[in-house]
Amino acid sequence: MACPYLKYRRSDGNGTRFDHERAYCGIQGAFVSPMIADVCNDRDAFDHTTHCDVFRRHESGRGTEHAQHG
Ligand code: SF4
Repeated sequence: MACPYLKYRRSDGNGTRFDHERAYCGIQGAFVSPMIADVCNDRDAFDHTTHCDVFRRHESGRGTEHAQHG
């Protein structure tokens, strides 16, 4: 299953539109390269839960969110 933070956008939100959808990471708030999008989509032997450092850092940080803000 693809990463839940993966989105596809046709624009950058600043007036630039693309002729095709581009992979966008909701955690980073940035577009990702087609190579990274393979990880996001769990293509081939990739698994975003183990191969994406952004995902892993985000998920491991969620458990300590209250401690960080408290
Ligand atoms: S870069 Fe990582 S966290 Fe972002 S959408 Fe892809 S797999 Fe998910």
